[in-house]
Amino acid sequence: MKIAIAGGSIAGLACALTLTCTGHDVHVYERSAEPLRGRGGGVVVLRQMLRFLEQHGHRTRAMLAVPTHRRRWIDIDGNVTRDDPELLPFSSWDAVYRSLCSMLPPGALHYGRNVTSVAEDADGVEIRFDDGATPVRADILIAADGTGSRLRSMLFPGNASSYAGYIAWRGVVSENAFNRDDVADLIENMTLYRSDAELFMTFLIPALNGSLESGMRRFNWLWYRNEPYESSIGAFLTGRDGHRHHASVSPGELSEQSLAYLHRAALDGLPRTLSQLVAATDAPFLQAISDALSPSFAKGRIALVGDAACTLRPHTGSGTSKSADDAVSLAEALATPQTDLVQLLNDWATARRSAVEPLLQKGPRLAQSFGLGYPSH
Ligand SMILES: Cc1cc2nc3c(=O)[nH]c(=O)nc-3n(C[C@H](O)[C@H](O)[C@H](O)COP(=O)(O)OP(=O)(O)OC[C@H]3O[C@@H](n4cnc5c(N)ncnc54)[C@H](O)[C@@H]3O)c2cc1C
Repeated sequence: MKIAIAGGSIAGLACALTLTCTGHDVHVYERSAEPLRGRGGGVVVLRQMLRFLEQHGHRTRAMLAVPTHRRRWIDIDGNVTRDDPELLPFSSWDAVYRSLCSMLPPGALHYGRNVTSVAEDADGVEIRFDDGATPVRADILIAADGTGSRLRSMLFPGNASSYAGYIAWRGVVSENAFNRDDVADLIENMTLYRSDAELFMTFLIPALNGSLESGMRRFNWLWYRNEPYESSIGAFLTGRDGHRHHASVSPGELSEQSLAYLHRAALDGLPRTLSQLVAATDAPFLQAISDALSPSFAKGRIALVGDAACTLRPHTGSGTSKSADDAVSLAEALATPQTDLVQLLNDWATARRSAVEPLLQKGPRLAQSFGLGYPSH
């Protein structure tokens, strides 16, 4: 089959890879004019994703992660209040992204292609772009266009993501920006600090070039803080150029006021060992945490995957692996002999939606246990 994918981030690329492995002609249309770089911080690469890639003959070393040995909670004075074994492999968004891109056939990725509308008929889907270029036809379209998915809104009008009442300040800073003694306890451990309605966590991730070498790696930190009011979240989401972003402000785009607020808050409210990470970060960034769930993960010949289908709370650490699971299950479903493609997609969508249900419920529960987000009703 000819399969088009709207969105060339983790979910779109994972689908492109599994569907290419199972013999389809796959094309990814990404609105960004160039490959996405330096996008994020850390991701927990759960084991299913590595297993899947190995099964398809891909070496996943480049995606492999800095191990953590302990999960340590500290108090405001830096004293350890709880210390448990923790063996999570933390990778970086960039390492996962680069690995997926490198495994795809040349010519599969098309940048600067913003999907604006789709039209479905009995034989396939026509995909149109904002640059006026000739529309593309495909047997199936996969919507992998993220939490604010335009395609989800088109298919299910009125369905939008909803703000969960808290934000994540985030940053990545090189391990070698610090005296080794000052950060010794943070190395290869996950360190957490919690106070009223906020949670800070940090762990090491690979260097931007994927290196796992000591001294080359980077600290990834996330600081979740309740921001229930539209006025404060609106101010933080307004970037240095005055543009009001929808749900996230990328590295380098935070306003001077937001940066000053962040630095002050870190100095006043974090243990010293953690506030030094914030102070040394060149380009912090921000994400408003939201929930999104599509009424169905498929409609006609269009399937939704990744955050477009459902956006999980980051505490579940499973957005990347869920995307990989979407990709594997969709490729397996499409490999079965088919008479009715629409029915097959519909069956896949029903099974997939029930499979992610427990993760969906886990996120708000975890957030509430940390005092984060709007209380549930
Ligand atoms: C604070 C935070 C922490 C997280 N931590 C983790 C973690 O530890 N572990 C983990 O596994 N996951 C984590 N995640 C989630 C994870 O990043 C995502 O779930 C995962 O990357 C899947 O994203 P996606 O590809 O569906 O969407 P996105 O990454 O949002 O990508 C959507 C893509 O579609 C493109 N696009 C949008 N509209 C169009 C259009 N009309 N036409 C063409 N292209 C379009 C965009 O440019 C973008 O490239 C975290 C998320 C957040 C917010």
